[in-house]
Amino acid sequence: MNQPSEKALVPFVSVENMMRLVHHIGIETVLRDLADYVEADFRRWELFDKTPRVASHSDVGVIELMPTSDGEAYGFKYVNGHPKNTSEGLQTVTAFGLLADVYTGYPVLLTEMTVLTALRTAATSAMVAKHLAPKGSKTMAMIGNGAQSEFQTLAMKAIVGIENVRLYDVDAAASEKCARNLKGQGVNVTICKTPEEAIQGAQILTTCTADKKNATILSDNMVGAGVHINAIGGDCPGKTELAADILNRSDVFVEFPPQTRIEGEIQQMPEDFPVTEMWEVIEGKAAGRCDDKQITLFDGVGFAIEDFSALRYIRDQVKDSGFCENLDMLADPDDPRDLFGMVQRAVPVS
Ligand code: NAD
Repeated sequence: MNQPSEKALVPFVSVENMMRLVHHIGIETVLRDLADYVEADFRRWELFDKTPRVASHSDVGVIELMPTSDGEAYGFKYVNGHPKNTSEGLQTVTAFGLLADVYTGYPVLLTEMTVLTALRTAATSAMVAKHLAPKGSKTMAMIGNGAQSEFQTLAMKAIVGIENVRLYDVDAAASEKCARNLKGQGVNVTICKTPEEAIQGAQILTTCTADKKNATILSDNMVGAGVHINAIGGDCPGKTELAADILNRSDVFVEFPPQTRIEGEIQQMPEDFPVTEMWEVIEGKAAGRCDDKQITLFDGVGFAIEDFSALRYIRDQVKDSGFCENLDMLADPDDPRDLFGMVQRAVPVS
């Protein structure tokens, strides 16, 4: 039988190992470290290959591939978005991803990315809020209390320093679940009956709902001066969360404009609607928050570079650790041209 060489074995992080790794490191440390990896990659934004994600839409959802490369490593994520799934006992978003060595083309990591996407999305939201939210923000409204919501809350606590979260969801059971999970995590939790109640006194408004339609989670009259909006649930054509009037009153910050114009809140706006790329704010090339009255709006759809950062982070953590197993997923004949001969070695002996 073929014995794969060490270099052909691919480290694989299962869901079980991802969960163990998060607890081994500590979730808030993971979120802080991930935010640092994402920020570091935003600082070298210009050297990455960038393309809007490749999406395959159906009536019920979307399946997407998200590739990028920094010239040394190549990464991609497979991710779906199916809002109807929860009613069937399935996740809205599931994902896995791969990192490869550009020099050989060989994969160096295969990992679950459903948990990792929630972590990286939360880390990105909080990293952006660190730059744009009012200084000293202590309260966040969290509208949409599904799979992402606890991660979003803990990242805002760990990276921005929020102390209070005000929850609202059309499904009260989702808010109760979120409150239960956040118990003992060092955040004061208030469950609210309306979105209007949830935004009372909040400096950061996070919208993270799932519905494949143009929804109005926040209407214009709900949003006061000086807040930071972290709008991350609308991430697909025909799926938005904010009234267009809010966009007209805000300074809008995005990841990669060609993708956000297709998928983000700004899909509602004319093609030349002004936006600022977040990497430019981080690099000091563009202004972020300029005054106390300004509404800053992160129209976050999730970009491939954030997944690349997350893949890099996991690769660095699982090196020489017990949190992965080696997969025999690359054919590796002793003579590289003798693939057929290698297959023949598996002929059953009668
Ligand atoms: P989820 O299905 O687990 O939770 C969504 C929640 O929104 C549910 O609890 C639902 O009851 C609630 N909801 C629906 N309509 C609502 C409304 N009008 N008002 C208040 N609550 C409402 O989904 P999830 O995994 O938490 O993801 C939420 C959204 O975020 C999805 O649309 C997903 O595609 C998106 N997402 C974006 C990124 C990104 O990088 N921007 C990453 C991950 C997920």
